[in-house]
Amino acid sequence: MDPGPAAAGDAGEEGPSASSAPDDPPPPLAPSAPSAQLQQPLSRYESQKRRDWNTFLQYLRNHRPPLSLARCSGAHVIEFLKYLDQFGKTRVHAPECTHFGLPKPPAPCACPLKQAWGSLDALIGRLRAAYDENDGRPESNPFGAKAVGIYLREVKANQAKARGIPYEKKRKRKRLPGTAPVEGSSASGGEATVAGAFSSSAASEGSSAPPTSS
Ligand SMILES: [Zn+2]
Repeated sequence: MDPGPAAAGDAGEEGPSASSAPDDPPPPLAPSAPSAQLQQPLSRYESQKRRDWNTFLQYLRNHRPPLSLARCSGAHVIEFLKYLDQFGKTRVHAPECTHFGLPKPPAPCACPLKQAWGSLDALIGRLRAAYDENDGRPESNPFGAKAVGIYLREVKANQAKARGIPYEKKRKRKRLPGTAPVEGSSASGGEATVAGAFSSSAASEGSSAPPTSS
């Protein structure tokens, strides 16, 4: 057993540090090829894209029935996105929940946690690019399938409704129809109109037969 140089001083903790450390991905392969095009360190986007791609390949390897990348369709990509929901951290309220549509619910609830739409959208973008780089046939890219785009739009709309968050950016300031022009001085126009019509008609018909009696 080799305890190591114990640089940080706290080397006495015991724990399974040999395998299955999810926050420590294996280092990328050492670039033995002398190609000069990958000299720079990977950007955040590139490293994230590589991680996502490996996650997807892992998903394919574990898929039952077996699924190869070549046979992967948009439906499989959607299946993958739904699979990822179990790791999500975004509370998406069910329509029955009293917090449905509230951006800031006052209390916790038992609605499921899912992947936020923005995360999925960015993920699909990275995987789509990674697929092109690894396969080279953009016409068969399952991440660019129409069904995937439709699914993402549905997720976006549903989460916007469930969480009370409008994802649309405010491009143009439309005049909201909430402020109706005030005619006259009566605030409650409808009621006043009805009451006024009733009273005037009752007054014109005289006091022969009032409709209500108590
Ligand atoms: Zn809820």
